[in-house]
Amino acid sequence: MDFVSTRGSAPVALSAAIARGQAPDGGLFMPTEIPKQAGPWGDSLQERAIRSMEPFFDGDALRPHLRDIVLESLDFQAPTKWINEHTGLLELFWGPTAAFKDFGARFLASCLARLFAPEGRRTVLVATSGDTGAAVAAAFHRRPGFRVVVLYPDNRVSARQAHQLGAFGGNVATYRVDGTFDDCQRLAKAAFADPALTESHGLVSANSISLGRLFPQMSYFVHASVAAREEGRPTPNFVIPTGNLGNAFACLLARESGIPIGKVVLASNNNRVIPEYLQTGRYEPRDSVETLANAMDVGAPSNLERLRHLFVEPADVVRGQWVDDDAIRSTIRATFEHTGEIVCPHTACAIAVCRRLQSGDDPDDRKGDWIVAATAHPAKFADVVEPLIGQEIEVPTSLRELIERPTLALPLKPTLDSLSSVLRQS
Ligand SMILES: *Cc1c(COP(=O)(O)O)cnc(C)c1O
Repeated sequence: MDFVSTRGSAPVALSAAIARGQAPDGGLFMPTEIPKQAGPWGDSLQERAIRSMEPFFDGDALRPHLRDIVLESLDFQAPTKWINEHTGLLELFWGPTAAFKDFGARFLASCLARLFAPEGRRTVLVATSGDTGAAVAAAFHRRPGFRVVVLYPDNRVSARQAHQLGAFGGNVATYRVDGTFDDCQRLAKAAFADPALTESHGLVSANSISLGRLFPQMSYFVHASVAAREEGRPTPNFVIPTGNLGNAFACLLARESGIPIGKVVLASNNNRVIPEYLQTGRYEPRDSVETLANAMDVGAPSNLERLRHLFVEPADVVRGQWVDDDAIRSTIRATFEHTGEIVCPHTACAIAVCRRLQSGDDPDDRKGDWIVAATAHPAKFADVVEPLIGQEIEVPTSLRELIERPTLALPLKPTLDSLSSVLRQS
């Protein structure tokens, strides 16, 4: 199968698209066709991951390694916990850094380790709104031939996220940028657009535009849907907390390729570019605003370009709604009171949207089964969540290990000059 840019440049193989990250014309890589599949889907997350990705890997140099890549990278669970009759939480936070980004980051690292010669020196440059940076750092930590440079917006990630981002050391260098996530993303983009920088440091992208992160994110949607149907449930609908639209786009891609998935609803926070676009048809990117669900504070969602490329009329295939910080707080409280579940602010956005649909006017919405993607462990956002529920959150082991290490992040001005000089140093 070939891969083309959303902006039209010539087709390349999957390996080349994964190695490059972004297309040379500035667009995002997309498969030239979406292969149609019918089950059986296998009986574990890993088997389902392989089944859903294999047609996209067909004919590529990575195809013979797909099974090994999946077995080594997607080696943790993604259970669905039903919190009432018609609402499930798909727990995507049991990886090493306690957010769903571990699926994509680990899979991508396993692909790149096979694509690049081990004696080469590559720099994985990653801009993060909080969770991506940690997942990418963890995935490449101590991998020979790679170093990681993480850029995060100073004072705009949770205390635990900040600690985690700086806790790796070794081949990971972490910088707190004086600006927003959009500034970090712009900075990374500017570096990749600079041929001299890209060449001299062997820059590699690990942001959510990479196909190596997108494809493995289909796995858990297949897994959750098939598992629900095996329990005798109807095909589930999904609500997905959305920022750069990577996770939700993987769900839509899975549905396009024939995986049984019902409605897909995108949940945004006060950064409402996507719901507004789906309502009005006008795409108006803007500066992000700060919210409690900081990993979704995105004003110019990068994967929207894929959505517009794949679908003539995106509003026909996906809906979008947004909620404010008050709704996030009250949902965290109410979910804990009514179900005993402690959820992170991002998951709370999606639960709030889900509740709205379940009590809305559409009879299908009211009686359907809904699975909410629970994108991060609440312990990552203890500073927000603990005061709301009035108790401490138990920290998962992998997160605890990082929290107990010392942490270091150096300040960085959001200019290409400052970034070039730190790239030369470390
Ligand atoms: C990254 C992230 C999101 C947003 O996912 P996208 O793929 O960028 O839409 C939501 N929740 C959490 C916890 C995240 O880390």
